[in-house]
Amino acid sequence: MLYYFTACDRNARVHYEETVAKPYRIADVFDKLDVDLQNELAVNGLDQNVHMWGAVPGKSNIKRWHNLQAGDAVLVYVKEGFRSYAKIVCKTINKEVAEHIWGTDDENKTWEYIYFLKDLEPVSFSKEKFSSFFGYKTNFTPQGFSNIEETKFQIRMRRYVDIDALVHDLKDNFFMSDEDFEEGDYQNSVETDLSKVKDMPEVPKTKKKQRVLNGVKVWDRDPKTAQRAIKKAHSLCEFDSSHTTFVSNASKKNYVEAHHLIPMKFQNDFTNSIDTESNILALCPNCHRMIHLARPKEKKELLKSFYEQRKDNLSNLDINFTLSDLNGFYGLK
Ligand SMILES: [Zn+2]
Ligand SMILES: [Zn+2]
Repeated sequence: MLYYFTACDRNARVHYEETVAKPYRIADVFDKLDVDLQNELAVNGLDQNVHMWGAVPGKSNIKRWHNLQAGDAVLVYVKEGFRSYAKIVCKTINKEVAEHIWGTDDENKTWEYIYFLKDLEPVSFSKEKFSSFFGYKTNFTPQGFSNIEETKFQIRMRRYVDIDALVHDLKDNFFMSDEDFEEGDYQNSVETDLSKVKDMPEVPKTKKKQRVLNGVKVWDRDPKTAQRAIKKAHSLCEFDSSHTTFVSNASKKNYVEAHHLIPMKFQNDFTNSIDTESNILALCPNCHRMIHLARPKEKKELLKSFYEQRKDNLSNLDINFTLSDLNGFYGLK
């Protein structure tokens, strides 16, 4: 699980600087910790200095603190953005130690729901990047101590070997959206002289193995499959055949793009390959941008029309899904 906590108010910022950004000298209060905890810290080589954080008692803080497990990952948000990434190593409730380290707040509470961190590394990315990455609303602001919503997290994790790879992708700015994979090189490689593309009967194919690229899992797509799909569609936009664009130099036909109706990132939900003609739509660039970027209402209209067009063909390939599944693939209710 991936958690985040925020250090935005005055107290929290001071705590962040003193016990997260740099480690705290825990040796000074070591004898005030439970024996089990002392052992746990010692085993991890954290009995002298350790990065640590604490939450004040409060219903949701206590609940999340109880759910925290060793090995869980945590991101720290300060006013300017996400600044630290670490793993939970162990936790304790200890009022005396918390008061010694951080004092008390205005209500005389202290940050006694303590957790200890290891493998801390600096990161740097904005809340905007974070929210677009996980699919939160654009005005999302991290607050308090929380975890990434389970479904949003699971959808993202499909592409990574582990949480470290996901955070590094966010951090190092080589994060590519699913569309980047689909467009760019892929779209260019689909462009070809369509008169030379051979028609082949569409048969169920077993899915390919996922490839790992810098910790990011990718599903390879075969441009030849998309070329056959576009040829079948006579190079016309399958939402509305009157959407003409320009004559492509490579294909000598009306330029269209290939879009996977069931996005490739959901390949694991199916046994057979979804990189297949019936799952590929020929779309004019405008309709293609719409299906990725339009408002939910318009996206749903497109999806409903394509669902009706394709569901039987896909079912023949043993690729079965409902319209509500399809909306879900696009993050729509
Ligand atoms: Zn697309
Ligand atoms: Zn169109």
